[in-house]
Amino acid sequence: MSYDNNNIFAKILRGEIPCKKIYEDNYVLSFHDINPQKKIHALVIPKGKYVDLDDFSQKASPEEMVGLLKGINLVAKKLSISVDTGKGYRALTNISEHGGQEVPHLHFHLFGGEKIGKMVE
Ligand code: AMP
Repeated sequence: MSYDNNNIFAKILRGEIPCKKIYEDNYVLSFHDINPQKKIHALVIPKGKYVDLDDFSQKASPEEMVGLLKGINLVAKKLSISVDTGKGYRALTNISEHGGQEVPHLHFHLFGGEKIGKMVE
């Protein structure tokens, strides 16, 4: 699947649609999910144009990969859900059709602030 420049997260990255920003650096943008599924539900997206984790794993630079992983940790710390600032969280990314991905720009969901429950319903 090729990258769709008109997906909603691409619009957020371009500043065309607002978001409740949590954190931003050269590699990632993080904001609150518009339809939170848990007390804390944040999204972390890379700034590069990647459809999903498979696409990212094949095409992203080492710097982008490190930037995304560091970004997830920085956001978790900022939200006080990381292991050192809180009680932990779940990081999840949906990939394509069977994964249930709706927005075709790679994103990690960070769920926290309460027990997250079963891994798969
Ligand atoms: P997924 O099913 O993994 O693709 O998740 C897409 C997520 O994006 C869902 O949890 C939506 O609630 C969320 N979402 C969609 N539009 C927006 C938006 N404008 N701002 C923040 N989150 C959004």
